[in-house]
Amino acid sequence: MVENLFHEFGHAMHSMLARTRYQHVTGTRCATDFAEVPSILMEYFANDYRVLSQLARHHKTNQTLPEDMIAQLCASKKQFAAFEMQTQVFYSILDQIFHGEHPLKKSTMEILSEVQNQFSCIKYVPGTAWHLRFGHLVGYGAKYYSYLLSRAVASSVWHQCFAADPLSRDTGERYRWDMLAHGGGREPAVLVENMLGKKLSTEDLVDALLAETMEH
Ligand SMILES: [Zn+2]
Repeated sequence: MVENLFHEFGHAMHSMLARTRYQHVTGTRCATDFAEVPSILMEYFANDYRVLSQLARHHKTNQTLPEDMIAQLCASKKQFAAFEMQTQVFYSILDQIFHGEHPLKKSTMEILSEVQNQFSCIKYVPGTAWHLRFGHLVGYGAKYYSYLLSRAVASSVWHQCFAADPLSRDTGERYRWDMLAHGGGREPAVLVENMLGKKLSTEDLVDALLAETMEH
């Protein structure tokens, strides 16, 4: 719940700190590729002892959670990181195929079966059609991959800018004015480049995602 609160607060900050000239491109009204970057970045803060110790206190004794307890909690959340990543990749590919030029003679269940067997270590169960209840395939319409893309960018920003000192005022101000202030008024790639001081290549993005699964 704390992680979720931080996540949603990332979206809130994106809107509150927006200073765009036009209201229709303010805050979260930006490219879907970038929309989850500020929120996913906040999840890194939610999993950091230096941040959590500022607010997670016992309501009577005012004691903070012990550092090793927080470390264990964070480690347990990462237990199936590689499998979760694989599932996200599988969903993204399925979403691309459903909205791309898929062979029309095949049913969505046949396509699902082929893609799941190829990209997930949990094989398709014949006769099942869970994709019919997976609303993201409709709501996101070929943009499901943006979760992974946003995670890769957020991971790069966290590791390069905040990991050494998440409470740095200078970095926070830079993040505010280089990234959050512009909403959808500027190309997301330009915002990221200004923050990181370099362009992110596809290899950089893949490496950032791989690092996520290797950390624990
Ligand atoms: Zn979100």
